[in-house]
Amino acid sequence: MALIVQKFGGTSVGTTERIEAVADKIAGFRDRGEDIVVVVSAMSGETNRLVALAQAINDNPPPREMDVLLSTGEQVTIALLCMALQKRGYPARSFTGSQVRILTDQAHTKARIREIDDARIRSELAAGRVVVVAGFQGVDDNGNITTLGRGGSDTTAVALAAALKAEECQIYTDVKGVYTTDPRVVKDASLLQTITFEEMLELASLGAKVLQIRSVEFAGKYRVPLRVLSSFEEGSGTLITMEEESDMEDPAITGIAFARDEAKITVSGVPDVPGVAYQVIGPVSDAGIEVDVIVQNVSADGTTDITFTVKRGDSRQTREILERVATEIGARKVSVDDKIAKVSIVGVGMRSHAGIASKMFKTLADENINIQVITTSEIKISIVIDEKYMELAVRALHAAFELGDPDYQPQGDADD
Ligand code: ADP
Ligand code: ASP
Ligand code: MG
Repeated sequence: MALIVQKFGGTSVGTTERIEAVADKIAGFRDRGEDIVVVVSAMSGETNRLVALAQAINDNPPPREMDVLLSTGEQVTIALLCMALQKRGYPARSFTGSQVRILTDQAHTKARIREIDDARIRSELAAGRVVVVAGFQGVDDNGNITTLGRGGSDTTAVALAAALKAEECQIYTDVKGVYTTDPRVVKDASLLQTITFEEMLELASLGAKVLQIRSVEFAGKYRVPLRVLSSFEEGSGTLITMEEESDMEDPAITGIAFARDEAKITVSGVPDVPGVAYQVIGPVSDAGIEVDVIVQNVSADGTTDITFTVKRGDSRQTREILERVATEIGARKVSVDDKIAKVSIVGVGMRSHAGIASKMFKTLADENINIQVITTSEIKISIVIDEKYMELAVRALHAAFELGDPDYQPQGDADD
């Protein structure tokens, strides 16, 4: 019998009615003879509500307790879904991460899965039950509850699919699949039938929250067939494919991602001597802060500026570290700009098409949008701009690269 892992996100289990609808869907697969392992998220809004409760008590809550708190959201959903399945006559059992034994490292709030013990799940399946597992959570070597970072239920699902060698991992969400960009920002975004694993990895890491980046990494590493599809509408969604070859037929650009959660840090008047980039970036990395786009200006008068981005939540700590460093190395000033956004165009077609960067820059120039920082890699170009132009930039680029769905029919929304 084929084994499928199905993950249902927050909106898909957002109310008891929706949980019942998910149970109906799973029942349909059981009737067709599939073995099903289900992973669910917390009901929509629940994880945010729990974060707010913690913040109300302590603006720097201890990570271990944060994980105990956040893991409760998914525990509610697994029980409710099993009740709905059993009511329909389908035997089902719920499991928390620690009951399955999803073993992680000890990095609370951003733990990584190390190992999954599949014995319990296999014996439940053999007994004819639907297995419902809480997403986003695991347990460390010492029995502490851990969580996998926001959006982590995707990773639970793909990791389970890898451990169980499932035929497919299906991520059910509130849109029909992976689009050329977030369909909430660009109404005529096109649904992609397939996307390469490499491109999906870039889009996820550059801000498209449709899949958590770790889940895409897992799918690549263990070659898990991964599909994103809608909980609410029929359709075959988007298949993430493992093909790495690109050819002239590929469109130049596959998709556009954006992120608003970064801050730009500039250290100016840095003496331009060997080792200075290390002196600036080193202490920031040593503090466990992830540094993204980095640029260093050409030196003018024996000094230079170093600019890079960090997650917005890390900007305060980064400033504190760099103010200390600036005094030590004799730099002039540290400035932090929180009001930035990163917009990236992604596509394997970039390898075989020339002129993509200049088209991107011209499109932004035509909209009068100033580019603050640029970085490129083989299949992506990212720019940092003023946050207030983010949506404008995304729409303009989507149109310029002709990514719109020709069959799109406006729904006549008031805000259209
Ligand atoms: P879930 O709760 O099911 O995990 P998420 O909110 O985490 O759902 O992810 C789905 C959302 O991702 C969509 O509602 C959409 O707004 C957003 N999104 C961003 N970029 C894309 C994209 N390229 N394609 C599809 N959805 C995208
Ligand atoms: N409930 C968690 C979150 O909101 C995990 C998930 O939904 O994937 O981030
Ligand atoms: Mg998600």
